[in-house]
Amino acid sequence: TWDIVAPMVVGEQTLGVLAISRPERHHDTERNVLEMIARIGALTTQNVAAYRKKVSEAETDKLTEIYNKGALLKRLDFAIIEARKNSGKASVFIFDLDKFKIFNDTNGHMAGDRLLKKLADLVKETVRSDDIFGRFGGEEFLLVMPGRSAGQAMTAASMIRKRIEEFPFEGGSTQPGGKVTISGGVACFPDDAPDGVDLLRVADDALYKAKQGGRNRVFRAEEIGLNP
Ligand code: GH3
Ligand code: MG
Ligand code: MG
Repeated sequence: TWDIVAPMVVGEQTLGVLAISRPERHHDTERNVLEMIARIGALTTQNVAAYRKKVSEAETDKLTEIYNKGALLKRLDFAIIEARKNSGKASVFIFDLDKFKIFNDTNGHMAGDRLLKKLADLVKETVRSDDIFGRFGGEEFLLVMPGRSAGQAMTAASMIRKRIEEFPFEGGSTQPGGKVTISGGVACFPDDAPDGVDLLRVADDALYKAKQGGRNRVFRAEEIGLNP
C-alpha cells in the first residue's frame, strides 16, 4: 500500500523507513527527494545518539560509573540557582574513606579499586532519584541533594555512613576497627554558606573535623557567617 519507501540507512545500519502512500501519482523526483530526506534523517539520528553518548561519557567517572567532579560541580550550580529562585535549600554531603591507604597497602591497589566501585554501587542504590551522587576525587565522594534542608541531609548522610559501616566489603576486616568506614561533612545552602564554592569548603571543613574527631562519623558544617 506504500507508493514510495525510503529506508533511513547510515553505514551498515537501517535506523527506520520513510514511506509515502498516495495512490494518484508518484514520480521519480519525489522518490529521490524522499530518499535524500531519509539519508539526512538517518545521519542526524546517528549524530544525536553519538553526541549524547559523548556527553554522558564526559560526565562519568570511568572506574565507578557515577558522576565525575565536573558533572557534580555543574549540578551543584543548578541546585543552588534553583534554591535561590524558590527561596529553597540545597545540601551537600562530602565523604572520604577512612584509612584507605591501609586498605591498599594490605589488599593491593586492584582490590582498592574494586572497593571504590562496590561502595559507589551501594551508595547509588541508597540515594533518592533526584540526588546527584559522584566521585569528587580519588577516594572522596560527593552527594548533592537539591531542595533538602540540613536536617534532611544529615539523616541521609548518617544512613549512608551506617550502611557502609555494616556492609561486609571484601578485605574490610583488616581495616582499623575491622571494617570499612567513611567520615563526612554536611552543609546546607543558604544556612551554612552563601554559594556553592563556600558550601563545599565548609562541608570539607566538617569532614576534616569528623576525621579529627575519631573517623566513622558525619559532622554538620559550621556557619561561615553570611553578610553581617
Ligand atoms: P584518612 O582516614 O585520613 O582519609 O586516611 P587515608 O589513608 O584514607 O588518606 P590518605 O590521603 O593518606 O590516603 C588516601 C589513599 O587513597 C591513598 C591513595 O593511594 C588512595 N587512592 C586514591 N585514589 C585511588 C584509586 O582510584 N584507587 C585506589 N586503589 N586507591 C586510591
Ligand atoms: Mg582523601
Ligand atoms: Mg581517606
